[in-house]
Amino acid sequence: MGDAHFYNDIIFVVLAFAGGACAGSFINAAAMRTVAEKKWWGRERSVCDSCGYVLSAADLVPIFSFLFLKGKCHYCGKPIKLRHFAVELISGALTAALLWRWGVSGAMLVSALVMWFSLFNALTDLENGYIYDSAALSLGAVGLLLRVFAGWGVLLDGILGAALGFGFITLIILVSRGGMGWGDALLMAGIGGAVGWKYCAFGLYMGFLVGGIVVVPLLLKRKLKRKDAVPLGPFLAAGCVFTLFIGNMLVARFGEFIGYNPGWPWW
Ligand SMILES: [Zn+2]
Repeated sequence: MGDAHFYNDIIFVVLAFAGGACAGSFINAAAMRTVAEKKWWGRERSVCDSCGYVLSAADLVPIFSFLFLKGKCHYCGKPIKLRHFAVELISGALTAALLWRWGVSGAMLVSALVMWFSLFNALTDLENGYIYDSAALSLGAVGLLLRVFAGWGVLLDGILGAALGFGFITLIILVSRGGMGWGDALLMAGIGGAVGWKYCAFGLYMGFLVGGIVVVPLLLKRKLKRKDAVPLGPFLAAGCVFTLFIGNMLVARFGEFIGYNPGWPWW
């Protein structure tokens, strides 16, 4: 019948959504505190962006608080930035989707880590055009560390991924003379170390494709001058997260030609 199994899946997906929304809330706060050069930990409390009132636990429930308060701070009545709600929703939805895609597995865990770190880096890049070295590289460090336990071939895949991500963006920086930043290179080094070279290649491809689709029309409409810095980090991050869903299908398709049998990332 499979009904019990189906309901189990639903419960896991709902739990993943809730956990992902909480992770999104934390990631958003951490990213904004990083941008503001504040500490993430200790006695630093979350406050209303408008009035500075210290928020209570009931004001900080991901997604629900925003809906319940109708998007307004209940101390000062000023609108709460939609970004808080959007990041919680995106993180919750993507976490649930990754669980649906990969089940409760190591692949799910690694995919979620990559997605959360990518979200953090996209947020700081959108906020002040800066990708923080430590945030970008710690994903690669965690990814490579996990790969150590899976054997030399898997570790090599991660090292090649980091090298490809860093090398490709470096090449663009050198050719375009500053069209992209070193933050993008470190971002792709970190993601590449976690996902390996094949996914990194697809992530770069998707990132530039989506980035190009958004940026080229703006250039044509002259809303952007060629010299304006476009934050490409969020596009690269989005491309890599997309790859977490379809990368193994793409690798399988391409692998048919070279006799390569894919497994994501190493299971
Ligand atoms: Zn307020």
